[in-house]
Order: sequence, then structure tokens, then C-alpha cells
Amino acid sequence: MNTITCPACGSQSKLKFRLKHNVYKCPQCNLYTSDARFDFSFKSSLELGSREIGLKKLRFDNFAVIIKSLKALKGTAIKGLEIGTGNGWWLKVCQENSIDCIGIEPEKAHQDYHDANNLKVFYGFYPDVDIKREGGYDFIIFNDVFEHIRDLDELIIALKADLNDDGLLIINLPMSDGFFYKTAMLLHRFGLSTYLNRLWQFNFHSPHMNYFNAANLTLLLNRNGFSKTDEYKLNSIDFSTAKQRIQSDKDISKLKAAVLTSALQLLKPVIKTSRSDIGVFYFKKR
Ligand SMILES: [Zn+2]
Repeated sequence: MNTITCPACGSQSKLKFRLKHNVYKCPQCNLYTSDARFDFSFKSSLELGSREIGLKKLRFDNFAVIIKSLKALKGTAIKGLEIGTGNGWWLKVCQENSIDCIGIEPEKAHQDYHDANNLKVFYGFYPDVDIKREGGYDFIIFNDVFEHIRDLDELIIALKADLNDDGLLIINLPMSDGFFYKTAMLLHRFGLSTYLNRLWQFNFHSPHMNYFNAANLTLLLNRNGFSKTDEYKLNSIDFSTAKQRIQSDKDISKLKAAVLTSALQLLKPVIKTSRSDIGVFYFKKR
């Protein structure tokens, strides 16, 4: 297969990278789309414990930024839904800020944490699980989840039905024009595909289906009856914990991890002034 239909604009995307799965690029809107599938049986090659140490601080810091803007826009007397709750960290931050948010999550891997922290999580796939709320939700949020979803039109129809008229759709996701994605593409051109495979999460059971930029994400939502109301960037790396994050990857040797950690410190000024790898977008129904 050398072309597929672009999920954002409907043009024919052309084969761009042959990785563990094929990646296609749309000539019109520059959206990258993979032909990967969600694999329920695949065991992830990442060590959960050490990954948490490195990632947790970054995630909590970033969630605090989103919460602050959400409070400024809507106050705290609001009801939210997070799709793809994963470890439950977003719900935890909401709880700490007295914001009522429930979650939907297909896997039960983090159920102990959810239960221990009294987080309200429904297990299953959205929109199959019935979480309808009288009057609709004040916000629905995706944290590193939107890029994993294949059937976007179907998803957006469900979101429209579940948000109230003034409800906010918040999408927090990795960007294809950020520093790390661009570097990974460059390395791939020189024959080193590890990093691009890694960014697409092709070695995990839930790989990325799309890699968006601000323009093609907005195009997709506009086409489905949403208007963008705000966007901003978040940090994609916390330099104080970068070492643990790299060391938690079993595929990277000790020497390589040391080299990467030093390289990151050296590149710190470049990364900080480059385009961010994480974007947050707010949409409202038209
Ligand atoms: Zn397109």
C-alpha cells in the first residue's frame, strides 16, 4: 500500500517512512499517519517503575499549567471527563484542585492506584462505555491519547454529543514540528530509525496512529464542527529527571544512556528555544 486517506483533510497521504510500521505523510496538510494497530497481547519493553520517577514530575508540572488555565476559564464547579486515563495522574491533579473529573481507560494495569486514590475510572473503550451525563460535560480532555486513536470522525461525533453547549474539548499531544520529532526524522535519514520508532511508540502495545501539528489538528476539528479557542505549549522534557527517563529504557545500553544524557545537557539551550514538542489545544462546538 503506497497511499492512504488523510484523516484530517481527505487527501491521499503518501508512504514516507518504512519503520516497524509504515508512516504516511499528507502532501496537503502534512499530517503523518501510521498503519499500526492497537495490540492487546504485546508486552511493552519499558520498565514501569523507573519510568514513573522520571515522567511523574514533568506530567504533574504540565497538568498544573492546564488546571490553572481551566480554572481561569471555568472555575472549579465543573464536571469533566478524561479519555484514556492511564495511570490516573490527571484525575489525581483534578482531585487535589477540587475539580470533579472522571476517567475512561481500556486497561486495568493501574487500577490499584485508581482505587487507592479514590479516582473514578470506568474501564473500557470510549464511546462504548456509557458515561453520559445529564446536560453534558463542561470539559473533555485527552492527555497523550488523541494521537493513539484511529477512527477520529466517529470519536469526534461522540465528543460533540457528550460536551455541553459551552463545553471545552482539550487536547494535549506531541507535535510533529517539535525538536524531538524533527531530530528523529533527521536521524532516520542517516539510517538510524530507533528514535523515530520510539516516538511513534511502535514497540508499545498502543502505538501512535497520527502525528499532528497545530494546523492539521485544527483542520480536523474545524471540519467536524469545532472552533479553536486557545493553544499553548508545554515542556516536553524535565532536565532534572531526564537521566532516569533514559535509564528506564531497557533497549538503551548503560553507555548509550550516559552519552544521551550528556548530549541532552549540551543541547539544553537549543531545545529550550526550539518549537515545543507538546501542544495543548482548546476547542468549542460551533
Ligand atoms: Zn491531510
